[in-house]
This record gives sequence, structure tokens and C-alpha cells, in this order.
Amino acid sequence: MTSPISGIRQLEDLGDVSGKRVLVRCDLDVPIANGMIVDDFRIRACVPTLQWLVAHGALVTVCGHIGRPGGKVVPELSMAPVRERLEALVPGIEVRENLRFDPREEANDPAFVAELIDGFDYYVNEVFGVSHRKHASIVGPPQFLPSAAGRNVFREVEVIGSILDQPTLPFIAVVGGAKVSDKIGVLRALAQRADLVLIGGAMALTFLASGHELGDSMVETSHLAEARELLNAFPNLVLPEDLLVEDANGKVETRGLDLAPGERAFDIGPRTAITYSDHIAQSATVFWNGPMGRFEDERFASGTLGIAAAMAKSTTNSARTIVGGGDSAAAVAHFGLTNEMFHVSTGGGASLKLIEQGDLPGLEALRSANG
Ligand code: ADP
Ligand code: MG
Repeated sequence: MTSPISGIRQLEDLGDVSGKRVLVRCDLDVPIANGMIVDDFRIRACVPTLQWLVAHGALVTVCGHIGRPGGKVVPELSMAPVRERLEALVPGIEVRENLRFDPREEANDPAFVAELIDGFDYYVNEVFGVSHRKHASIVGPPQFLPSAAGRNVFREVEVIGSILDQPTLPFIAVVGGAKVSDKIGVLRALAQRADLVLIGGAMALTFLASGHELGDSMVETSHLAEARELLNAFPNLVLPEDLLVEDANGKVETRGLDLAPGERAFDIGPRTAITYSDHIAQSATVFWNGPMGRFEDERFASGTLGIAAAMAKSTTNSARTIVGGGDSAAAVAHFGLTNEMFHVSTGGGASLKLIEQGDLPGLEALRSANG
């Protein structure tokens, strides 16, 4: 399989942008409360691309969305605070109003695309997190304008693409999170490529439920057969050997794999955390999606912390450690380990879709702009 990065241009490949009008679709979907930006990490993330364009003489217009206004004007989701912040960081750029105030953005309406690109010479996609959606501002402009990926998009696709296309071995995948049903496609894609897939989180319980009594734990009974089928198809799936359990009186204990009624597993057990960490220590590539337990509750954070710490250590041994998924990235940030990873993806859903499908509509559009 070729990497999804092949055929995608970078900013340098656009040619001379001096005096040219460039439309940049950015990730501006920041949390806003009472007209104030709560966290500006996404705004800061698009600055290098914008600075490069401005420094090379381009006339830059930025567009993006905030929240889910549902195709109508919602004043609380106005771009005004983001515009103010972005214009302070990169003077001289123009920032458009929330694209999703118009229903034609999400409907990918050709007339909206025509309005968007009117007067522009180039298009840049700097919104990896939405590139799995066929929205007008993602898939439209590359049909008409020479186009490139922004710095973040290029890095995301290059790094995640390296998992799909000849990862350095041994390659260990770690998959957890709430539901098997969310992750079937990702599990299959990873199981086909990784030496081992270490399974944790509530998802592990649905796998374990075939041979064990799991008390009142969260098991997706409608997916038991599918979990069994995956276990048969992929002998490289690894399940927990112990669990961290809350009993009916709220007491937390380490247990084996058979629980009594009223008991619920909320994390992998300490032996499992050690086994998984040992595998991670041996690896050259690690991809992790999905917390090992209910890490938001301190009593059940140790499994997730164990994986994050093992990955951080592997990074220093020059393993390529990659984290994808919204809650997984939040967990790593919560433990203060974001900078200890080779790469933490900004696009939760998009990174999983890219692994599952090997490509994204926004990337296909960029590639065919160059065809
Ligand atoms: P991501 O966003 O990284 O893809 P998910 O959305 O799949 O991850 O899952 C994250 C959620 O799963 C977290 O909120 C966590 O509390 C929950 N979770 C993980 N393990 C368990 C468990 N054993 N019981 C209940 N919730 C769990
Ligand atoms: Mg999630």
C-alpha cells in the first residue's frame, strides 16, 4: 500500500505565491464561553502555515467553522473572537465568518464552492480534523484551484501514513476506549499490520465476555459474535490478564477475569499494564487509540497512565510513538506527556478514518487538484 501522503503538494510546491490570493481552510473550532476563547491550541496550530504564506507575499484569507450552528447564524458561534486572536498572531490576514452559518457548507453545494473560491489563485487545506468530511470548503476548492496541504495536515498524513505503509517493526498497536462497535474498522486495519494489538478499555470486556463472567461490567452484548470472529481471524490480538474492579460497595480491587454480580471492571489490572508496557518497550512503532480505563476517575487512571508512560519511554529509545483519538489525546495531555510522544494527532475521528480507509476525501481532493 502506498502512503496517503503521495501526490499531495506542500506549500513550497505551489510556486511563487507573491501577490497571489490564497484561501486557507483552517481548524478554528475552539471552545468559546461568553465570547472568550477557552483554549486557543487549534488557532496557534495553523499559525506556521499562515506565517509562511504572508512571509512569501501572499494575500491570505482564512476560513473555518466553530461548533454546530446547523446552517443558520448563531451569534454565540461567531468567528469574531477567533478573528481578533488570529489577526493579532498573523497581522495582515483576513478571517471569514463561520462557514457553517450557511447550510451549503455541510451540503457541499457547488454554488457555495463557486462563491468561496471567487477571486482566489490558490487553496490550502490546514484542517486535518475535518478532512474526513465531504464539506464544500474541504473537497470543493481543489477542483478549481492549484492546492496544497498546510504544515499540520502534511505532518499528520505523513506520520499516520507511515503506519499504513511499511511501519518500522516491531509495530505494536494499543486499542481501548468505550466501544468495540466504534472501532471495528480500525481494529481490523491495525491487526492486519501490527505484530500485536493490545486491547484494553471497556472494549476489552466485550472480547473477554465470550469466555468469562464479567458481573455488571459494560459489555456490548450485540457485538459478542463480532468480537469472537475478530479473535479467531487475528491471533495477534492480546487481551487483559487482570482487571481493576469496583465491587457493589464501591471498593476498588485488582481481580482476575471472572467477576461476581454487582462488580464492574473500569480499568486493566496492574499485571496487564506491565505486560503491555513490556511489549511497548520492545517496539519500534507504537500506535495508541482509546484509554485503557475510565481514566477521568483517578481510581481507574493507572492502566492508561501506564501505557502513556511506557510510550514516553519508548520515544526516548527512538520508537515512533503515535497517539490518535480525542479522549486518548486528552488523557496524554492530562498526564503532561504530550511532548514526550513522537506525534499526537489533532484529528481524533479523522486519524481513525485514515487508518481504517487508507485515505480521506479531503486528501483525495488535494491529490486530484494536482492531476
Ligand atoms: P478516543 O476518543 O480516544 O477514540 P473513546 O471515545 O473510544 O476514545 O473512549 C474514551 C472513553 O472510554 C473514556 O471516556 C473512558 O472513560 C471510557 N472507558 C474506557 N474504559 C472504560 C471502562 N472499562 N468502563 C467505562 N468506560 C471506559
Ligand atoms: Mg472519544
